[in-house]
Amino acid sequence: MSIDYPRAWQIVMETNPEDHHPDCSFRVTDGAILCDCDILNKYPETLDKKMHTKIKKKKMKCENCGIMLSPDKIFSYVDGNNIAITKNSPNLCEKCYRKIYGEK
Ligand SMILES: [Zn+2]
Ligand SMILES: [Zn+2]
Repeated sequence: MSIDYPRAWQIVMETNPEDHHPDCSFRVTDGAILCDCDILNKYPETLDKKMHTKIKKKKMKCENCGIMLSPDKIFSYVDGNNIAITKNSPNLCEKCYRKIYGEK
């Protein structure tokens, strides 16, 4: 796995030097040299996973009938030609979506 440098720096800046291997260049040089321990390889994955679960855990409400739904059950009207419509379209459950937009 390879990460581009700016991204790699961004990641190590968010970590604590103590989290790194005692021999890691980042820790030894106090942040002067880019990390060369496994933190860098592990971190993006953990970070992405964390963000993923955060988004997935958040339940959403159907704005029409108020039922709570997991995000993958939410229907939202998407207009490829007008992003404003997509942005403003309410989150709906499947039932309400069909009621409002019809079967398409
Ligand atoms: Zn390191
Ligand atoms: Zn609904």
